[in-house]
Amino acid sequence: MKCTSCHTVLISEDNFTKFTCSSCSKETIVRCKTCRLKSTVYTCPECGFEGP
Ligand SMILES: [Zn+2]
Ligand SMILES: [Zn+2]
Repeated sequence: MKCTSCHTVLISEDNFTKFTCSSCSKETIVRCKTCRLKSTVYTCPECGFEGP
């Protein structure tokens, strides 16, 4: 599993959040703790939606 924003490989389950794309609800977005703290924008690979 990789962070959608920075593509860091995530090992520990405590260090990331997982949610479905708020636009298409098809793609699972994974964000690591670092990206969440920085509020890094993610881009959905399915629909190209960019969200905080
Ligand atoms: Zn990240
Ligand atoms: Zn999407």
